[in-house]
Amino acid sequence: MAELDWGRLGFAYVPTEYRYVSRYKDGAWDEGALVTDANITLSECACVFQYCQACFEGLKAFRTKDGDVVCFRPDQNAKRMVDSAKRLVMPPFPEDRFVDAVKQLVLANKDMVPPYGTGASLYIRPFMIGTNPVIGVKPATEFEFRMFCTPVGAYFKGGATPVAVKVSDFDRAAPHGTGHIKAGLNYAMSLYQTELAHHEGYAENLYLDPATRTKVEETGGANFIFITKDGKLVTPKSGSILPSITRRSLMYVAQHYLGMEVEEREVYFSELEDFAEAGLCGTAAVISPVGRIHDHGRDILLPSGMEEVGPVIKKLYDTYVAIQHAQIEAPEGWILKIC
Ligand SMILES: *Cc1c(COP(=O)(O)O)cnc(C)c1O
Repeated sequence: MAELDWGRLGFAYVPTEYRYVSRYKDGAWDEGALVTDANITLSECACVFQYCQACFEGLKAFRTKDGDVVCFRPDQNAKRMVDSAKRLVMPPFPEDRFVDAVKQLVLANKDMVPPYGTGASLYIRPFMIGTNPVIGVKPATEFEFRMFCTPVGAYFKGGATPVAVKVSDFDRAAPHGTGHIKAGLNYAMSLYQTELAHHEGYAENLYLDPATRTKVEETGGANFIFITKDGKLVTPKSGSILPSITRRSLMYVAQHYLGMEVEEREVYFSELEDFAEAGLCGTAAVISPVGRIHDHGRDILLPSGMEEVGPVIKKLYDTYVAIQHAQIEAPEGWILKIC
């Protein structure tokens, strides 16, 4: 295993030795290969630079107690990337090849999978870009699919501390109905708002549905989950939020491991003050508890508070992390053993 201070890793790019690359030209993907060059050389007029034709994914590999290296639900990322690519007029990268690339990549960089017990993991970043020059507005005809990995530290060192979020006056995603795809363009559209929120002391923006501004959507990069006072998990249903794999998996864990009732439905902003706990979910942090929601001069304080994570979210989090590390049995097909 590599000599790194695993316990002190943050969430920053640390280049690893190998990355996977496949190129699309003349209507077909090439066979793909692991390469060592971390740089990409492209025309200044490449479609990705001019018209942002790009999408990405994010997933993690873990080391288990027994020293095995496992990956969590890569097939789900493969499927979601197909959806993103189609929406951006890019050729889908075959799902089975995506999963195979994850295996090759993690195996080649296995020394960079952090040890069990450090809370650290190997973050895998697949992405796809339009590479040939286009000056008139149109999709590229040549593409690059690439996947690299970088070790990342435990998101919360010494336990999760609840965050505060604020209601944004802007919409999250680019207009044109791209809110459900995982693409840098949606992040580019929210960077300004995110900086504003940080400047005012909030971890994230809560975006409302653009049409009526009465329903909760998500934040810049994470979906919401809420816990009712009688212990039910409620999460917003919307066609314009990113379908989080963490959220989908947490819903399953809540229902099948913890015996909770689960509801995916429209969540009105006016309901928030009735919930007992709130959290933001995504691959990076699993769940960040939310203790306070700021809405134009008014604060909604969740009963779980800003001091520590609420009991239901804590239990969900612990169960989920144990499944990811193969400490408790995972549902069929969730854990891909790499080596
Ligand atoms: C990636 C992402 C999430 C979280 O999705 P996971 O699959 O759980 O990592 C949520 N919202 C947005 C906008 C995202 O890009």
